[in-house]
Amino acid sequence: MLTIALGALAGATVMAAPHVHGEGQLDVAMEADGAVMVLLSLPGDTAVGFEHAPRDAQQREQIESARAVLSDSTRWLGWPAAAGCSSSAAAEVTVPVVDGEDHHHDKEHGHGHDDHAHDGHDHDDHDHHKHVHGDSHDADEPGDAHDHHDYARHSENWVTEVQAQCSDPDALRSIDLGPLFKAFPSLEILRVQFIGAQGQGGAELSAGNSVLELP
Ligand SMILES: [Zn+2]
Repeated sequence: MLTIALGALAGATVMAAPHVHGEGQLDVAMEADGAVMVLLSLPGDTAVGFEHAPRDAQQREQIESARAVLSDSTRWLGWPAAAGCSSSAAAEVTVPVVDGEDHHHDKEHGHGHDDHAHDGHDHDDHDHHKHVHGDSHDADEPGDAHDHHDYARHSENWVTEVQAQCSDPDALRSIDLGPLFKAFPSLEILRVQFIGAQGQGGAELSAGNSVLELP
């Protein structure tokens, strides 16, 4: 039952979440036996303020500190104490920017314009070649693996998956996302979908309205 609900959630919402800066998506699936799964999706811009491979030590540090916050769910979501909820493992955080870092770096250096400067084209041919090359950077041409990679990375979000178990699921009537808004000040709107034995629904949270009420 949980598997079916979670599959429906993941397919319908987080995995297809639109990439809008300042907007996150939260999916919550609750089972009658107290098993809860939470999926959070944040645009890279909202998680760390940039959406490219880290360019210096400070940006690497920003990624690691955001990853550390997200992987410890007690730092960004608050369960009601009466429900007795806890996670047995760290949250699983997927960071698209970092996953392609080394690959991206190598590719950029392999794209040097020296390649064109020394391959025997006359001046006109060279300009034409540069023009085409520049166009493909804007157009997300499928045949260019480098551009496609950049495009895919931009449209992907940071995805965090939390699995928890609540000893008294009947007492799970709300979840406080206040700490999430504090940890990520660029987050303006959190669109929430939830599904559970009591029903399903949606909510829109913000820093000033950060408690998710459950049925
Ligand atoms: Zn973006």
